[in-house]
Amino acid sequence: MSTTGALTLSFHGIGASPGVALGHAFVIDRRRVRTPKLRLEAAELDSELMRLKTAIDLSDHQLQDIKDRLASSDGHDHSPILEAHRLMLRDPMLVDEAIKLITKDQINAEWAVRRVARRIKHLFDNIPDEYFRERRADVDFVADRIVRNLLGQAVDVEVEVPPDAVVVSHDLCPADAVMLVKTGRVAGFVTDVGGQTSHTAIVARARETPAVVGAGRASEQISPGDLIALDGIRGLVLVNPSEEQLALFRETMRRHLASEANALKTRDLPAVTLDGTRVSLVGNIEFAEELPSLLAHGAEGIGLYRTEFLFLDRLTSPTEEEHYRAYRQVLEGMGNRPVTIRTLDLGGDKVQARRHDKEANPAMGLRAIRYCLAHRELFRVQLRALLRASVHGNLRIMFPLISGVSELREARSELELCRSELGRAGVPVGKRVPVGIMVETPSAALVADRLAQEADFFSVGTNDLIQYSLAIDRQNREVAYLYKPLHLAVLRSLQSIVSAAKAAGIPVAMCGEMAGDPIFTLVLLALGFDELSMTAGQIPVVKQIVRRTSRSDAMAVLDEAMKFSTAEEVERYVRAEVDKRLGNGA
Ligand code: PEP
Ligand code: MG
Repeated sequence: MSTTGALTLSFHGIGASPGVALGHAFVIDRRRVRTPKLRLEAAELDSELMRLKTAIDLSDHQLQDIKDRLASSDGHDHSPILEAHRLMLRDPMLVDEAIKLITKDQINAEWAVRRVARRIKHLFDNIPDEYFRERRADVDFVADRIVRNLLGQAVDVEVEVPPDAVVVSHDLCPADAVMLVKTGRVAGFVTDVGGQTSHTAIVARARETPAVVGAGRASEQISPGDLIALDGIRGLVLVNPSEEQLALFRETMRRHLASEANALKTRDLPAVTLDGTRVSLVGNIEFAEELPSLLAHGAEGIGLYRTEFLFLDRLTSPTEEEHYRAYRQVLEGMGNRPVTIRTLDLGGDKVQARRHDKEANPAMGLRAIRYCLAHRELFRVQLRALLRASVHGNLRIMFPLISGVSELREARSELELCRSELGRAGVPVGKRVPVGIMVETPSAALVADRLAQEADFFSVGTNDLIQYSLAIDRQNREVAYLYKPLHLAVLRSLQSIVSAAKAAGIPVAMCGEMAGDPIFTLVLLALGFDELSMTAGQIPVVKQIVRRTSRSDAMAVLDEAMKFSTAEEVERYVRAEVDKRLGNGA
C-alpha cells in the first residue's frame, strides 16, 4: 500500500542523468497528432504549397522565439539543438521532397510532411550507433511541429509548472525540455522512450536534473500528481511508494546529496597525490551546452570534444563557418584552459555521413582519420575552421584512430596545407597549436615509440583500444562480458604507451571510459598518466581519490596486480585494495 492509498508502481528505465529526486508527477501528453490524409484537386495545389510555406515559417519563428527567450534568462546555451531543428526546417531533403509530393501525388501538406519524415528516418535505421538512431526522434519533432502548425494546434509547453515537478512524458522535444528546466521547478524527468543520448537526457545532464528515460509505458500509467521517487543513477522510478520504500529512498537521497557535497568540496583544489604527483582532470564533451556543468565540477579543461556530433540533427554537412562557430564558442567558454578538439570520427559504428553503402565490418572499416583522408574536402573544411578558431583560446588538435606513422604524417600535412592556405589569405591562426593523436588501435600502441617522435601528445581511447585488443565489438551485447579494462593485455599495452610518451617527453592522457571509473584511478595513477578526461559528474570523485592516494602506494598495488594471470583475478585484487584504502569512497 502506498502512503496515500494510491496505486504503487515501479518502472525500470535507463538512468540518463545522475541524481535522485522526489516530487509530484507533471504529465505532459506530447503524443503524435493525427495526420489527415486528403487527395487534392489540381486547382488546390498552389494554396496547399502556400499552407506548407506558412507552417514552416511559423515553426521557424517559434524556435527562434524560444531561443531568444532562453538566451536572455538562461546561463546555459541550448541554442545548437534548437538551431539544428531550424536548419532541418529548411533542409531541401525535407522541404523540396514535401513540395514534390504535394504537386506530384496531389496530397495535402500534413500527409506529405509525414511521408517525407518517414523516408528520412529510414536513412537512420541501419546505423547501429545509439546516438544516431536517437536522431530519428528529431525528424519527428520537426515534422510534428510543422503538422501541428498546419492544423493550428498548440505546439509548445506553455503551462504553469508546479514546484518540484517530475515531468512525465512519452518523449520530449528539446524545445520543451529546455523550456521546462528553465522554469527552475523541474525536479526530474521520466520519459517512455529515449536512451542515454536522447535530447531529454542531454539537456537534463547539462542542467544536472535527474532523469530516467526509456521507462516503458510510464506516461500512460502515471497520473498527474502521483508521488514520484526518481533514481537517475539506477534508472528507477517509484510511483506512490510505500512508507517503507519512501524511508529507504529518503536515505538514498540523503547519502547521495552528502557524497555529492563532500566531493564538490575539493572542486577548486588541485588533483595531486599525497606524495606530490599532479594529474590534470579534464572533461569529455559532445556539445557546447555541457560547458557550465563541466566548470561547475572543477574540470581543468577539455580532454575530448567529439566533433562528429556536429553532424547530428541535420542532413547536410556543417559548413566551415558552422564548425568555426562551434569551436570558438567552446574555446571562449573555457577561457584559457586547454581544449582538445578531436577531428571527425565519422564512419564505422558512428554516423555514416553521406554514405549509404554498408560495410561488412564497419568497426574495422572506413572510419575516423581513414574516412577524413578519403574525403579530403570534408577534412579540410574542419581543419580550416579549427585553425581559424585557434586564436580564441588554448586549442589542441587530436586525430582519432591513427594506426601508424604514415597516417599521422598524412593528417599533419593536410593541416599544414590548410595553415598555408589561410596564411596566404591573411587569416590569423594560432602560432603553436599542439597536434596529438588518440592511441586506440593495437598497432598504434605497438609503434607508440615512433608515433611519439611525431605527435605532440597522446590520448588513449580505451573504448576502442579494448575493443580492438580483446577482439570484442563494442556494440555487441553478446560479448560485452569480455570487456575487461584490467585484462593484462590492456595493462601491458597501457604501460608501453605511457613509457613511449615519457621517453619522448610528451604528455599522455586517457579519454576513454576507463579514465572516469573510480575503480581504475589507482591503476592509472600508477601507470603515470598526466591527464584523465571524463564526463563532468565523474570528476569530483576521481579527484577525491587522487588526493587520498600516494603514487608510490598505487605503484605497489599495480605491481602486485600484474602478477595475476586472469582479468578476474586482477580485478578482484584491485577492488579489494581500493576498498581497503578508500572504503566506500570509490
Ligand atoms: C575511445 O575510443 O576510448 C574514445 C574516447 O573515443 P570514442 O568513444 O569516441 O570512440
Ligand atoms: Mg575511439
